[in-house]
Formats: sequence, structure tokens, C-alpha cells
Amino acid sequence: MNLLVTGGAGYIGSHFVREALKKGHNVVVFDNLSRGSKESIPAEIEFRQVDLCNKEALQNEIKQFDIDCVVHFAAFAYVGESVESPSLYYNNNVVGSLNLITACVENKIDNFIFSSTCSLYGNPNKVPITESESIKPINPYAFTKYFIEQILVDYSRAYNLKYAALRYFNAAGADPEGDIGEKHDPETHLIPIVLKNALDNSRPFFIFGDDYDTEDGTCIRDYIHIIDLADAHLRAIDYIVDQKKSLILNLGTGNGYSVLEIIRKVEEITGRNLNYKISGRREGDPAILVADNKNANKVLGWQPKFDLTAIISSAWTWHKNPKF
Ligand code: UDP
Repeated sequence: MNLLVTGGAGYIGSHFVREALKKGHNVVVFDNLSRGSKESIPAEIEFRQVDLCNKEALQNEIKQFDIDCVVHFAAFAYVGESVESPSLYYNNNVVGSLNLITACVENKIDNFIFSSTCSLYGNPNKVPITESESIKPINPYAFTKYFIEQILVDYSRAYNLKYAALRYFNAAGADPEGDIGEKHDPETHLIPIVLKNALDNSRPFFIFGDDYDTEDGTCIRDYIHIIDLADAHLRAIDYIVDQKKSLILNLGTGNGYSVLEIIRKVEEITGRNLNYKISGRREGDPAILVADNKNANKVLGWQPKFDLTAIISSAWTWHKNPKF
């Protein structure tokens, strides 16, 4: 199929692009390079530096290609930044996505895969979290994802559009071949922060709270390897194209690990001493987020293949020797 991947220079998008190419898809990437790395895009594929907020430029570019399905990763994704600068988030994420979805309808591109998030469940009532858990975003970032899902629901009712909204839990790990990996500036995610400390422990990192209602008092998350995420996207494309039905699915492993368990695992894999301290809770962090992923298994036949050791080992390979 001919795929348009937005945000293909970012962490999750760039890993998806490689897996899509391995499956024999043709890929064109649109990315404004505001946060992604051009080096993470394979040289042989079509790339356009397009900002989705520039409606006219987007319209002009999208017309040049015969696209079967859009896979939309492009977004800003820092919760703290979204609280400080909601305008940045509503404009970039919601306006950019609305322009893209509108361009799809106008150009008769009927299939759309959307990078959503478990953070739209806020503080869930029940864990593991099913897709029928109530939607209660607690920060502007999560609201932007919720609004985009709603636009897709409404557009798919009114127009000939099929979508898959894939609600990721904690994306982690790196390309096992070591060519690309997680690179954020600033880095806010736990696994890269802990691995960076394994490389240089001259300054401590902080555990955000050890007084949660969990076994060791630290927050529990469901870490999912990005190659497993990419696999689910490829299956979702086939599903919406073949079945002509839309989908909303959680993508997580169903296994939760506490911050301290992640730290122990990093110590075990790297053999390095880590330097950390306990600090206060980070605002907006729920105690436990773990997916119920039965629907993704039932509908897509999808099952995560990488465990926590594989996630951290692949990320460690990248952090020891980042290519860009
Ligand atoms: N965390 C931490 N110290 C850090 C970064 C993260 O203790 O320097 C904790 C954070 O409070 C959360 C978990 O690690 O409970 C995962 O955080 P991350 O930012 O990686 O992902 P999130 O769950 O916020 O999407």
C-alpha cells in the first residue's frame, strides 16, 4: 500500500517507517522537523518538510501522492509543556490534525491511523484499563488527543473515512539493529533518563514519589516495545482497509512495572551503578496505568513479543552508541 506517515522523523514514527518498508509498503514522510531527526528517515524514501498547520502547503503536497492510508504520528507530546503552553498544543495537535483529516476527506483518502494515548483515561476507575473506561483527560495534551479522536468519530460517520485510534501505553525500547532510537530534547521519559544515568551518574535523577498506593510505593506503568507498536499499526491498516470498519484499541502489554523495578532492571542489564533520589510526586501522574489488551489480540491477532528485558536491552544498545 501507499502510506503517508506524518511525524515519520520522530521516535515512534521512524520505527514504524522501517517496519512498514520491511512489509513492502511504499512510504512517504511528512514532518516539519521541529522535534524529529531527519537522520532517522531512510534515505531512499520520499520526504517532504511539511507543517500540518500550514493548510495550503499540506493541500499542495498531499495532492502529489496517491495515498491509500495516512498514519498520523505528528504531535507535541510533553504533558508539562502542554500545561504551560496550551495554545501550542491545541494549535499544533488539534489544528494540524484537523487540517490533515480534512485533506484526507477532500482527496478521497479513506483510511486513517491515529496515534492516541492512554492518558485520555486520566485517573482510571479500574485497572487493567479497557477501552470502555471513561474518558477523563487531566491535561491539555490528553485533551488534544481526545478531541482528535472525536473528530475522527464524527467524520467517519459523515464521510467515507475509516480510522483506527490506537491508545498507546508507555512506548519504549529501540530498533534492535541499533540504527535508530529514542531521542528527545528535553528527555522526560523514565527509561532513557535511567539509561543516561547508567552512562553518566555524576548527577542524580529523581523518582517522582514513593508514597503511591502500590507495592513499593512508586508508580506502575505498562511499557511496550515500539516494534510491537509498529506491528499493531500494520495490522490495524490491513483491518480497516479490508474490513472497512473503524477501531479504537489499547496498545499495551498488560504487564505493569514500578519505577523501582525499572531501575533494578536497568542496573541488572547495564551492570552500572545508578545515582538517584526520591523527590515529590509529579503533578498528574496516576499511580497505576496498565492496559487490558484483549481487544487488540482478538481483533488484530496482535500479541506483544518483546518483554521488559528486550525493551531495556535494545534501548541500552542505542544509548551506548546513538547514531545521531
Ligand atoms: N518518572 C520518574 N522520574 C523521571 C521520569 C519519570 O520517577 O525522571 C516516573 C513517572 O512519574 C512515571 C513513570 O516514571 O510514574 C513513567 O514516566 P514517563 O514520563 O516515562 O511516562 P508517562 O507514564 O508519564 O507517560
